[in-house]
Amino acid sequence: MAGAGALLLLGGATGLVAGFLIGARRRRRTAAGAAPVAAPPAPRPPRPTLNPVVVLRGDDIAALDERDAQELADELRPHLHDVARQHGASEATLWRRVDGEEAPLQIVAWSGDGPPPDGASWGTPPERALVSWSAAEQMVGFERRDGEPRVAMCPVRFASGEPAGAIVLSAAERFSTDRDALRDWLPRHAAQVGRLVSLFSTRNEVARQSRFTRALLRIARDLQRAHEPGALEASLCDYAVEVTGGEFSMLLRWDATSRTGRVAAHSERTPILLREGSVTEGSVAGAACVEGSAAFWEDARFLAERGGLLRDDDGGVVAGSMAVLPMMRGPHAIGALLIGSSRPGVLRALEIRNGSVLSALAVNALEAAWELAETSRRSRTDALTGLWNRRHFDEQLDRVLAETDRFGGSCALVICDIDFFKKVNDTYGHDAGDVVLQRVSTVLHDGVRTVDICARLGGEELALLLPQTSLEGAVELAERLRLRIEALLVAHGGVTIRVTVSMGVATYTAGTQGKGTIFKRADERLYAAKHAGRNRVVGATI
Ligand code: GH3
Ligand code: MG
Ligand code: MG
Repeated sequence: MAGAGALLLLGGATGLVAGFLIGARRRRRTAAGAAPVAAPPAPRPPRPTLNPVVVLRGDDIAALDERDAQELADELRPHLHDVARQHGASEATLWRRVDGEEAPLQIVAWSGDGPPPDGASWGTPPERALVSWSAAEQMVGFERRDGEPRVAMCPVRFASGEPAGAIVLSAAERFSTDRDALRDWLPRHAAQVGRLVSLFSTRNEVARQSRFTRALLRIARDLQRAHEPGALEASLCDYAVEVTGGEFSMLLRWDATSRTGRVAAHSERTPILLREGSVTEGSVAGAACVEGSAAFWEDARFLAERGGLLRDDDGGVVAGSMAVLPMMRGPHAIGALLIGSSRPGVLRALEIRNGSVLSALAVNALEAAWELAETSRRSRTDALTGLWNRRHFDEQLDRVLAETDRFGGSCALVICDIDFFKKVNDTYGHDAGDVVLQRVSTVLHDGVRTVDICARLGGEELALLLPQTSLEGAVELAERLRLRIEALLVAHGGVTIRVTVSMGVATYTAGTQGKGTIFKRADERLYAAKHAGRNRVVGATI
C-alpha cells in the first residue's frame, strides 16, 4: 500500500484537499469536548480513519505511481540524511497520513539505506502516537525520554500550503542540538522538504500530462480513420478512460431538438445502473447538454441532491467522482462524454481537461459516423410502417441463410398479407388503409424477438425472418400473431376497422435442399392460405 500512499502525497493535491477538509470538519465537531493541548502531546490512540481517499487507477498508471514513489524516496534520501546529521539524529523520516488506510501513517522516505521502514511498526507506541497526533494537528512536537527529546517532528506542507505529511527526527541517545535549536530548525527543514516534494510532484504531473498528450495525438489520428459508429463509440469510451485516469466512461447521444438522449456506449467497468437507457433534460447530464457547459465533481457523492445523473428519477449518482463533458456542434450538444470513478477525489481537474480535448477532437468523427448510420438506416427502412424495407430484407435473408449453414439448425420465413385490403381502402379511404397497415406492422414488430427481422416487402405484404427457428415454432408464432391481428380494433375517422391476415410459413434446415426456394415456398403457402378461405396460417405444402 506504500505506493498508494505515496501517490496521494505526490500527485493527489486535490484529493488531499477533500481528505483534509473533512478531517477539519470532524475536528471542529470534537473540539467542544476536549481541546488539543499544544505540546508536549498526551499520547493517544490514532484518531479514527477519516475520509477514505484511496486512489484507484488503471494498472499501467498504478505501476507508474509505484515507480514515482520509489524515485521520490531516492531523491529525498540524501537530503534527509543531511538533516539527521545536522542534529545528531540516527534517522530522519518523511511521513504521510493516508486517510482510510489501516495504517493511517506511512513512511514515504527516510535517511537510511534500502526501502523506508514500515510506518505501522516504526518506533515505540508513544512515538507513533506523537507522529499521529502531530500529523493530525499540524504541530511541532517532541517525545522525551529521561527529560531529553528523543523524537522530534514537524508538519510538512506542499508549496501550495496544503498539508503533505510530517518530517520526523529520531535520536538513538540524544540530539546534538538542543530543543530550541530543533524548534527553530525543524520548520525550515520541513519547508525545504515540502518544496522538494512539490517540485517532484510537478515533475510527475508534467510526465503524466506528456503521456496523456501523446495518447491524445494517437487518438486524434485513430479518430480520423474511424467511420463505423459502434466501434467509434466504444473506442471513445476507452480513450476517455485512458487520457483521464478515470475508472469508467460513457458516451451519450443527445438530440438538441427533442432535448432527450440515450447511452450510446460505455466502457467495461461502468456501473450496471448507468449502462443503458434514456437521458432526460432534467438530469445532471441532460442539463449539461442543454446548457452546453462541462461539469466536474471531484466528490460526486452528494450530486444526487441535484437530480439523477441520467434521468430525473434514477435515484442519484452512483459514482464517487464524475465529469460530464458535452460535445458541442456550434451552440448545440450532439452528445456528451461522462467520466467517473467509484471513489471521490480520484478524478482531477487537470486530467478532466484531457477529456474535454478528447470530446472536442471526437465531435467531427462522431457526427459524421452518426449521420452516415442514420442515412443508411433510413435507406433501409420503410417510411410508412417503420419496418425494414425490401432491400434490407433481401440482404438479411442471404445473411440468415448463410448463418444457418454455418451454425446448423433451421431458420424460418413467414410472409403475411392483409386480407381484402383493397376493400379497406375502398370503404374507408386510403388514409384509413395506411393506419391499418401501421397497426398491423406494430403487432408483428412487437411480437418478435430482437434478432428477428420484420420487413414490409411491398404493398400490404409483410415478412418475418426468424433465425434459429423450427417450422413448428414459426407456425406457432404466426398463429399467435394472426389471432392478435384478428382481435385488433383500428379506430379511424369515427369508425372501427377490423382486418385479418393470411400467412405462409417455410423453413430452411442446414445441409438440406431448398435454400434458394424458401421465399417461393412461403409465398406459395400464403397463396394456399388465401385459397383456403384467408385468415389462416399455412406451414406445409397442401
Ligand atoms: P387479398 O385478401 O387477396 O390479399 O385481397 P387484397 O384486397 O388485400 O389484395 P389486392 O392485392 O387486390 O389489394 C392490395 C391493395 O393494397 C391494393 C393497394 O391499393 C393497397 N395498398 C398497397 N400499398 C398500400 C399502402 O401503402 N397504403 C394503402 N392504404 N393501401 C395500399
Ligand atoms: Mg391482401
Ligand atoms: Mg397483397
